[in-house]
Amino acid sequence: MPVEAPGRTYPTMERLLQDLHIRHELNAPLAPLTWYGVGGPARILAHPSSVQQLAALAARAHEEKISTYVLGNGANLLVADAGVDGLVIQLDDPGFKQYRVENSIVTVGAGFDMARLVNQTAKEGLGGLECMAGIPASVGGAVRMNAGGAYGDIGRSVRRLTVMDASGQVYHRDRDDLLFSYRKTNITARYILDAELELTPDDPDVLGKRVKEIFTYKKLTQPLADYSAGCAFKNPPPEPDGQRRSAGKLIDTAGLKGFQIGGAQVSPQHANFVVAERGASASDILAVIEHVQTVVRDTFGVPLEREVVVWP
Ligand SMILES: Cc1cc2nc3c(=O)[nH]c(=O)nc-3n(C[C@H](O)[C@H](O)[C@H](O)COP(=O)(O)OP(=O)(O)OC[C@H]3O[C@@H](n4cnc5c(N)ncnc54)[C@H](O)[C@@H]3O)c2cc1C
Repeated sequence: MPVEAPGRTYPTMERLLQDLHIRHELNAPLAPLTWYGVGGPARILAHPSSVQQLAALAARAHEEKISTYVLGNGANLLVADAGVDGLVIQLDDPGFKQYRVENSIVTVGAGFDMARLVNQTAKEGLGGLECMAGIPASVGGAVRMNAGGAYGDIGRSVRRLTVMDASGQVYHRDRDDLLFSYRKTNITARYILDAELELTPDDPDVLGKRVKEIFTYKKLTQPLADYSAGCAFKNPPPEPDGQRRSAGKLIDTAGLKGFQIGGAQVSPQHANFVVAERGASASDILAVIEHVQTVVRDTFGVPLEREVVVWP
């Protein structure tokens, strides 16, 4: 929420965006921009077209202490029904979707679509991103979440990132000082601008087949056609004896598959997906998430950490 003294007026939109010539909308619906398709509007939704525009906007928002959020493809996001009383920035302009290959290093903008990247690199005979098949994401969102799964994650291909802090300063993070672990990174910068990915030359046909195989496996095991944000919870850390526990298995064993509140339900296909019907609200989804956390904690003594990012 905006940090402001009571009674002080929220800085006007005109002042925030004044002279910046940035495409933007006021009171912009966010639901259509997320995979859940629920939630309220953003006070401002801005689409800067260059790093310079983003830096100017970031600096101004920082100065005015306006809460700022970065939107990727909205595939890991649940926006509250009341929406976001702040500035949402989406790096979806062509200026943030560049793609360049030099030797086996791909430099790609944060707004580039992951499915397209997976297919494009495979066709060009560059391997390493097949593990991202079937994971809806922008490059920025995938890096932020270290998205991946049983076949690997994006982090292992990252060589260098260009990032920007909340005040608009641009800098690089190199592989040596980056940590990528299970759905987690040590990136503290507010904005990921682009990523250099180190890939491995391989046969395009072999890569194409592998992408198809992984995508087919995902389609069979996950409710990809339903409204969701992927896995709702992270798998808990391994037990002291090293045994791995899956959040989905715990939820299933607790008898929660199909559990429903309003238009939200624990997927009968994959217990770690909380899926939404058309017309569901964000509060239905949150209520299911909280119920699952309570039951799993009470039944197994295991706290489940949410993987889905909730705004605000
Ligand atoms: C059907 C389905 C299946 C899925 N399967 C998987 C899976 O197998 N494995 C997996 O890991 N995930 C999976 N997910 C979740 C999702 O695909 C990933 O978390 C993905 O990385 C989200 O990327 P995004 O661009 O949509 O990010 P968003 O959902 O838009 O944002 C997620 C977070 O990243 C931040 N962010 C986005 N862009 C930037 C940026 N440029 N700079 C800084 N921060 C940014 C946002 O502020 C937010 O905190 C699935 C989701 C769905 C809907």
